[in-house]
Amino acid sequence: MKIIVQKYGGSSLATAEKIKKVAQKIAALRRRRKGTSLVVVVSAMGGTTDKLINLANVVGKSQEGELLSGGRDGRELDNLLSTGERVSSSLLALALNSLGQSAVSLSGGEAGIITDKVYTKAKICSLDTNRIKKELKRGKIVIVAGFQGVSEEGEVTTLGRGASDLSAVALAKALDAERCEIFSDVKGIYTADPSAVDGVRKISQISYDEVLAMAGCGARVMQGRAIELAKKSGIPLSIRSTFVKGKGTIIGSLPTKFAGKFVEAPSVTNVALNEKEAKVSVFRVLDRPGIASRIFAPIARGGINVDMIVQNVSKDGYTDLSFTVSDEDLERTVKITRKIAKEIGAGKVSFDRDIARVSIIGLGMISHPGVAARMFSVLAKNKINIKMITTSEIKICTIIRRKDGKRALKVVHKEFVE
Ligand code: ASP
Ligand code: MG
Repeated sequence: MKIIVQKYGGSSLATAEKIKKVAQKIAALRRRRKGTSLVVVVSAMGGTTDKLINLANVVGKSQEGELLSGGRDGRELDNLLSTGERVSSSLLALALNSLGQSAVSLSGGEAGIITDKVYTKAKICSLDTNRIKKELKRGKIVIVAGFQGVSEEGEVTTLGRGASDLSAVALAKALDAERCEIFSDVKGIYTADPSAVDGVRKISQISYDEVLAMAGCGARVMQGRAIELAKKSGIPLSIRSTFVKGKGTIIGSLPTKFAGKFVEAPSVTNVALNEKEAKVSVFRVLDRPGIASRIFAPIARGGINVDMIVQNVSKDGYTDLSFTVSDEDLERTVKITRKIAKEIGAGKVSFDRDIARVSIIGLGMISHPGVAARMFSVLAKNKINIKMITTSEIKICTIIRRKDGKRALKVVHKEFVE
């Protein structure tokens, strides 16, 4: 059976009109490719998930003002959040039916996606494609509600923000699909966010690793876990616009290629800005084996993702530690860190929301020495102070003040790409 998996993001399904347009697009593909089966994964209608989370917090916040979390409130949160994708999947199936194409919508559980029980961040354990295949054999277009699954015990779970991408990749893998296409409101992957920077260039082909690094640096491309799974499974992904025709970007294992003509392609593939992080610092930490794990293990157990860990040079057997977490996790992180700091006899714990991360990413950087120096000097020339730096083979990240973020993005992009 030849199968194409497509995924449509929330902005492409934000209104009834748009849902009808997406249905027309799918129907046209169906007419063109009569022998091919179509599985379509959908996100919730744009903004729905945020609205549901806000609503949940309005009714369910604790008296101390603590927001709902996956631990205590996980089951109810997931039961609630999963409805967003169920709404859009049913509406899209109805729209297709009205065009004379027979379609069926399935929840994640009905589609056979079995997960663990970690509410709001569940992992897919297995995928039973029997139901989907049965529907495809009947000639139906199968619309799957993204972002969700069901635990062995039959409880509804969600897979983390942005995880409709993951649903699509997992289904493409399990169904051995011929193609996996990710549709959204951008025409592909660019050298920077086209809505924030002029003079961006489109990338026609890019490696999994670069897109993973971009996602990790806060570029709004695709969910990181989805890219990881695609890489592990060797599934190429086609990133394209829903409503504007064009080739888009292929994410795969081929070397990175830019659209248009170049004398020499830039060594930097992408410049990313993340304005949704905060920095936590712990002062006067004993410089002894085991201390870092004492600090970071409880934070990890809280389901908090820590990034950019920097430890200062040790002085008199003590050191300072700084790390970044996402804005949303800051309050919880500070609470946990203060508790541990007391236990291990460390000094003050402080935090800083006034940060932004500007990063450059590119496999080509390895063969171009001096890239880091060039980035720092262009920031310096523009009087932008760097608070933290981390580097890896394919990326260089700097933490600067949040108010400098957008300007830094532009000047760094200009330096390396334009
Ligand atoms: N609706 C979910 C979210 O907003 C999942 C997705 O869109 O991929 O995070
Ligand atoms: Mg999304």
